[in-house]
Amino acid sequence: MKNNFFLILILLISTITFGQKTYLHCGKLIDTEKGIIVQQKTVIVKGNKIVDVLNGYVSPENSNDQIIDLKTKVVMPGLIDMHVHIESQHSPKSRVEKYILNEADRAYNSVSFAEVTLLSGFTTVRDLGGTGVNISLAKAIKAGKIKGPRVFTAGKSLATTGGHADPTNGSSRELIGNPGPKEGVVNSVEDAKKAVRQRYKNGADCIKITATGGVLSVAKSGDNPQFTIEEVKAICETAKDYGMHVAAHAHGDEGMKRAIIGGVKTIEHGTYMSDATMELMKKYDVYLVPTITAGKEVAEKAKVEGFYPEIVVPKALTVGPQIQGTFGKAYKKGVKIAFGTDAGVFEHGKNGKEFGYMVEAGMPAMEAIQSATITNAALLGMKEELGQVKKGFLADIIAVNDDPIQNINTMEKVVFVMQNGKIVKEY
Ligand SMILES: [Zn+2]
Repeated sequence: MKNNFFLILILLISTITFGQKTYLHCGKLIDTEKGIIVQQKTVIVKGNKIVDVLNGYVSPENSNDQIIDLKTKVVMPGLIDMHVHIESQHSPKSRVEKYILNEADRAYNSVSFAEVTLLSGFTTVRDLGGTGVNISLAKAIKAGKIKGPRVFTAGKSLATTGGHADPTNGSSRELIGNPGPKEGVVNSVEDAKKAVRQRYKNGADCIKITATGGVLSVAKSGDNPQFTIEEVKAICETAKDYGMHVAAHAHGDEGMKRAIIGGVKTIEHGTYMSDATMELMKKYDVYLVPTITAGKEVAEKAKVEGFYPEIVVPKALTVGPQIQGTFGKAYKKGVKIAFGTDAGVFEHGKNGKEFGYMVEAGMPAMEAIQSATITNAALLGMKEELGQVKKGFLADIIAVNDDPIQNINTMEKVVFVMQNGKIVKEY
């Protein structure tokens, strides 16, 4: 009899705990699918899912249910950044850190980068390159061991010898070695296939290539083409076999063209994109990930003596300020835009600045928000789970104080964050 009593008690407690719902009373709610703001809604969350969105402020039936008052806030789905480097953050020490940090040091550093990203409202990110610590970080976040955005990672980026993301660029001859496909350096079609398969084996979710030179690598050119079209094709075709899409870093026009024709899904930065290449983007259904914030930030930091190695400074000063103008032009020409910042090149957590820059360049605020929600969710293959506050979707929900259509800079100050149904930030 006594045993039965305890059994019933345990059952009762677990029913109450597991059945508990959260009612979010939202003054304004952004419908990212329709591109409108609706008023006075109640979003009901149970477990990690949104179970209903009702009109008006509905009171819970069960006394154990929780009410969150967001009546004075503007609520929207968790934001998605398609271009971050979650395991690192550039500083004047970066060049030396390459030689003195161990994987464990990088891993400990990355914990705070992940947390600050989540608390700034970015509940999901695509990580476009690191040492491999990014794969372990993604796993640790998924397992709930640490706080951070849901991470889709490329692991280590793929480069060509001496290209942007060759890990031994700028090293002494003793250290320069001969990195190959395993380390993410390819020089043939065969290397290209092997490097993609190695990323798959390592646990990457997508592939990143450096189709042209880059600003922050210790190398002369920031925009020369660095892969042959055959190599790009081999990478994209192999990636497709493993269910992975390919993102291409590209500043110069020729490298960009090869990447688009070769089959990549996104062009990162797109700095010197010509009119003809914009047409090619549309024809091949390729998205531009602008990273305007990174362009602005590197141009600023290049003015600080000693912040970057000497070879980087002229590239940062010329390439950086171009990005916003190209984005504005591409948007007006009808190129599809996927929100992405390149955080890690600048301080993590400042990702929200990108919205202001996009609006400044001519994109309406609602479209900028849609690019960071429904567009990116679809690119990540999560369009039925992420990017909307809708019944059946994962409960990734954030709130800001002001109406972003009137004041886009409010996106830099996210005051409430729920991820997978758990509140991680409350004002
Ligand atoms: Zn990047």
